[in-house]
Amino acid sequence: MIRVVLLGPPGVGKGTQGQRLAAGAGVPVISTGEMLREAVAKQTPLGIKAKVQMDSGHLVPDDVIIGIVRERTLQADALRGFVLDGFPRTVPQADALESTLQERGLALDAVLSLSAPEDELAKRMLLRGRSDDTSETVRKRLEVYREQTAPLIEYYRRLDRLREINGVGSMDEIQSLMLTAIGRKA
Ligand code: ADP
Repeated sequence: MIRVVLLGPPGVGKGTQGQRLAAGAGVPVISTGEMLREAVAKQTPLGIKAKVQMDSGHLVPDDVIIGIVRERTLQADALRGFVLDGFPRTVPQADALESTLQERGLALDAVLSLSAPEDELAKRMLLRGRSDDTSETVRKRLEVYREQTAPLIEYYRRLDRLREINGVGSMDEIQSLMLTAIGRKA
């Protein structure tokens, strides 16, 4: 049973590392980016709206994403815990998560903050080549990260939940740092 948030800039490896961490712990990954891409692919009303923001590197509105995550965390498979990837991304989202968990008598175990130099991140995203990974949106997403998401590092440090992880290294090295940080490694 773990409730963990993965925090970090686009391209830092939250997706890959999050999958591994969740599989090992037997809990689902809740990736807001994946959920939104699915909605876009299915052309749901949400997807049609979100696509515009995603393609320009902006965030979708807080109230929209907060509602989606609240519902998702109530599903049966998430009752034993979850790894959140891509949420929260703003202070209002973090506040909403805190109150949702509190209402249920729950709390986050840890916030794993992954970091890597910006030139490395940009390089990785351009290699990855997702439809929103053009050099223009990459720059925009890094800027949005700095302005809206990076303040969450201080937010969670103050709540004493923050564990800082160096996101440069081999997949195994980084996973091992993460496991140690949540006390799952001998
Ligand atoms: P990245 O790999 O750049 O971190 P994600 O796959 O997590 O990106 O998300 C892709 C896009 O989906 C974001 O650029 C943003 O437009 C939207 N998105 C994902 N999560 C959120 C969120 N929590 N709040 C607002 N928008 C989000």
